[in-house]
Amino acid sequence: MEIKCESCNETFTATSLQQERIKISAEKGKSKLVLNCPSCRSMVMAKPLVLMGKVTDTVENALDSRIFCCPTTSCIGFIEKEDGEDIFGCAECGTEWASLDNIYSEISKVIALYPYRQKVYIKDNEKYTAISFENIPKSYYKKVQTEKVF
Ligand SMILES: [Zn+2]
Ligand SMILES: [Zn+2]
Repeated sequence: MEIKCESCNETFTATSLQQERIKISAEKGKSKLVLNCPSCRSMVMAKPLVLMGKVTDTVENALDSRIFCCPTTSCIGFIEKEDGEDIFGCAECGTEWASLDNIYSEISKVIALYPYRQKVYIKDNEKYTAISFENIPKSYYKKVQTEKVF
């Protein structure tokens, strides 16, 4: 399974662990999976559904660019990644993050404050990935809206 890194333009072969994660993500219908490029260590947005041949790349491109539920308290928006740029932002509350690490620490903080929040994030060592957004229950958003703003 060959994956292209958009940061350094290198193509790398997914490790068996990465392949396993890609397979599981595709089965769950996730359109995106964050992997790390072995050459430059940048994050690579792998497309599990495309890699597993479940959808074609054109269909995939029409899908949204949301990567995480926004970890800001009381915000029901999503973090989106600008294509080709390492800038992350939530249009709903206007928060921006300069790196994934900043997002991970924000997620840890909001989970510590509101443990139910961990439902929408999958912890993988010190990193997080998102659950499939279609699987987020409506009650989740209702709860978020009742959070205090800090
Ligand atoms: Zn790279
Ligand atoms: Zn937000």
